[in-house]
Amino acid sequence: MRRPMVAGNWKMHGTRASVAELTEGLRNLALPSGVEVAVFPPALFINQVIDGLADKGIIVGAQNSAVQPEQGALTGEVAPEQLVEAGCKLVLIGHSERRQIIGETDQVLNRKFAAAQAKGLKPVLCIGETLEEREAGKTLEVVGRQLSSIIEAFGVKAFANAVIAYEPVWAIGTGLTATPQQAQDVHAAIRGQLAAEDAEVAAKVQLLYGGSVKAANAAELFGMPDIDGGLIGGASLNADEFGAICRAAGN
Ligand code: PEP
Repeated sequence: MRRPMVAGNWKMHGTRASVAELTEGLRNLALPSGVEVAVFPPALFINQVIDGLADKGIIVGAQNSAVQPEQGALTGEVAPEQLVEAGCKLVLIGHSERRQIIGETDQVLNRKFAAAQAKGLKPVLCIGETLEEREAGKTLEVVGRQLSSIIEAFGVKAFANAVIAYEPVWAIGTGLTATPQQAQDVHAAIRGQLAAEDAEVAAKVQLLYGGSVKAANAAELFGMPDIDGGLIGGASLNADEFGAICRAAGN
């Protein structure tokens, strides 16, 4: 009943030329029809990618958006309104690199989440624990707190129009992947937390796993009952590898 989604986070990678090459590679992919496929290019290249992927059916999203919905006096930010006008449908909120390197707090992320939804931009809320937190046995507490921040501010129904990506920080860009069972355990806890408030929202929300997913491990991860696809970093920069991950989600 839930459509799988595979989304590529290109992070701060790319030049006009390399983005053109990657976009062309994506255009040439045979993608499974039952899978929602999305890419998140750097903001500078969003227009180029949207033009390059015209009619391919790949959703384009932004990696970040402003705390206020409308354009205005906010130097260096991009408003949800502007992203929607450009053709974006999704936005990443709370990627661990933004939480840790930029210092975004749950309070700031709540504002970004609400601002995005106010303009019809669907948030992909990224949550996950550090290695230290996992080793201290705090994984579910940390992930539960990051999720509660949104639920307490806006109610569980906010997730009727959002996607959640569980991304253990220790698995991002490290080559270390959570085992399918480790990931499933956290996904089941996330769905359980939502179900305690609203069973329908919990049953429908897409829960993606992210953290060193590649073609070689995708099928096993996506085979778990509460894993509805993946948020892919490094491997999404290679069109053929990304296509193979998308096909794994379609099987
Ligand atoms: C990410 O940055 O969201 C991510 C999952 O990266 P990687 O796949 O490279 O670990």
